Amino acid sequence: MATVSAAANPPLEAEGASILGLMTHERWIEVGRIILTGAVSFLYWQNLVPLYVLWAAVAIGLYPLMKTGLIDLFAERKIGTEIFVTIATLVAVFGGETVAGAVLMVIILIAEFIAELNTDRARASIKSLIGSVPQTALVREDGGERTVPIAEVRTGQIVLVRTGEKIPVDGVVTGGSAAVNQAPLTGESVPQDKAEGAQVFAGTIVESGAIDVLTDKVGGDTIFSRIIALVENAESERAPVQKLADKIATWLIPIVLIFLIGVFLVTRDVSKVVTLLIFTSPAELGLATPLVMIAAIARAARNGILIKGGLYLELLAKADVVVFDKTGTLTANKPEVVQVQSFDPAFTEVDLLRLAAAADRRSAHPLAKAVVDGAARRSIDVPNPQGFEQLQARGVKATVNGEIVLVGNPALLRDAGVTVDRTVEQTGRTPVHVAVDGKFVGVIFIADTLRSGAREAIAALKESGVKRVIMLTGDNAATAKAIAGDLGIDEVKADLMPEDKVAAITELQKQGLKVAMVGDGVNDAPALARAEVGIAMGGGGTQAALEAADIALMTDDLNKIVAVRNIARRSYRTIQENLWVGVGVVHLLGITAALLGWIGPIQAAFIHLGPDVMVFLNSVKLLRVKIPGA
Ligand code: ADP
Ligand code: MG
Repeated sequence: MATVSAAANPPLEAEGASILGLMTHERWIEVGRIILTGAVSFLYWQNLVPLYVLWAAVAIGLYPLMKTGLIDLFAERKIGTEIFVTIATLVAVFGGETVAGAVLMVIILIAEFIAELNTDRARASIKSLIGSVPQTALVREDGGERTVPIAEVRTGQIVLVRTGEKIPVDGVVTGGSAAVNQAPLTGESVPQDKAEGAQVFAGTIVESGAIDVLTDKVGGDTIFSRIIALVENAESERAPVQKLADKIATWLIPIVLIFLIGVFLVTRDVSKVVTLLIFTSPAELGLATPLVMIAAIARAARNGILIKGGLYLELLAKADVVVFDKTGTLTANKPEVVQVQSFDPAFTEVDLLRLAAAADRRSAHPLAKAVVDGAARRSIDVPNPQGFEQLQARGVKATVNGEIVLVGNPALLRDAGVTVDRTVEQTGRTPVHVAVDGKFVGVIFIADTLRSGAREAIAALKESGVKRVIMLTGDNAATAKAIAGDLGIDEVKADLMPEDKVAAITELQKQGLKVAMVGDGVNDAPALARAEVGIAMGGGGTQAALEAADIALMTDDLNKIVAVRNIARRSYRTIQENLWVGVGVVHLLGITAALLGWIGPIQAAFIHLGPDVMVFLNSVKLLRVKIPGA
């Protein structure tokens, strides 16, 4: 996060980091070393310095390579280019090909240097693509307003943000109003109107108006900072392909050494052995996946999708079943009370709605919100409950004015010993049962309409190679079937408790299927954790679901699931291209050409730059290519 002022930066513009900014002290030493070795080789070639000077220069150039190579090999049990270049140079020097050895070493040093610089630059600009958070905030205090470094802003302080400025903290609007561009977070560029009570996020931009924000989260705790941290750590969570690449590299070295000794015994040709060494170095294996992951995670972040590690890209790309929760995930596009039916003359419909809304006031369930809204729309005065308990996947139990009120599905009532003496059903409507003091007194019907684009999203998922789409819900079978029918989902399991959802996923996994699960509720959290990849609806979803999931959608747009699946597939493909084409093919061709004597060590060192560049360009491309849905 490099932005120093709160000035408005176009959020999605890459501010490519300058090369000079990346030149650390160590890097300057590296440049000096390269120039020294190169110059001495040239002088020796011109017969201007004796051989022992060249040896000294080679030793100076080789020292850091040998050191890194040996540390990698023995301490981290990892085989990098360094060890290969070291061996190649030593073989050349002791085999009497000193100039070739020196030149080859210089070329590789230059290549490594440029590659490292480029990778750092790519990392920096990928991060700046996502944007940044201002480093200062205008804080309102007793005496007036004061500009304060972000590190000194505390929760509970009021921060002022004006037109054109970026919001520096996560918080709630307490005064004023503004149109806020949330694209850096959600990928949605249409500005949102924010007035008193609205939630605003660090890193988003006030396009017009001005607001006072009551600080809730600052610095590393903001959602925005968490996204940046994810991109930074994207390389640490190793995907299975990366582990495979590492394994190949470990196997490679003994095989290569035996092969090279064989070649030397047969041909007695030092320069051929040196050439082969260059092409057997598995350098790009290390580069083939990490850059792809950073690029893919950044690309997703720009679309308002948070991926918690590179690992999940591969798992999602390979998923063959997508399991959806119903309420709050596929539906909850403004659920509404459409009818209230009382079975007991002692309760009018208004009484029923009042009691149910009182019980549901403290619940975050989408249906609870509908009940509360329904009461508000009918201008019903809703009392506060004295006791409240949320029973997952069932409903709520509360004490209202001394009466025990149950609001939820039939199972909730039955468990509490209430006789549910009639079945209520209305196609496509979710019945919410209400019991008062142990008696089933009525039903509230809620029309829980589909999220827009749900049908298209499911069709697109099937098109992307998903074999089965399944709905798992805590709601009743009739409602679930009706909704599944509308969506083109052919498998439905209803009346499920949280543990039943887990069992359903385990069952699929036992059949050898890789499962992605999409959910929103507390009742989905165990299943989200159980699936290969858990995807949480971040907008209306619960904290529990967000924490259990591996991927979170910043806005509850089902099309984002299609987008992230396609980003995952695309990046997995890119990794494979990098590994097989960039590394495999170029190396095989190189080895063949070397064996046939078509190329010598110096050409090899140059050609060797090819896969480096290819892997790099191919990975960074992921930020720009067209991906359906993204
Ligand atoms: P899904 O698994 O489809 O997301 P849930 O398990 O969240 O559904 O809910 C299942 C059923 O439990 C709902 O259809 C509803 O009848 C009932 N229910 C759960 N919580 C509440 C609540 N707070 N208010 C009313 N009904 C609820
Ligand atoms: Mg749900």
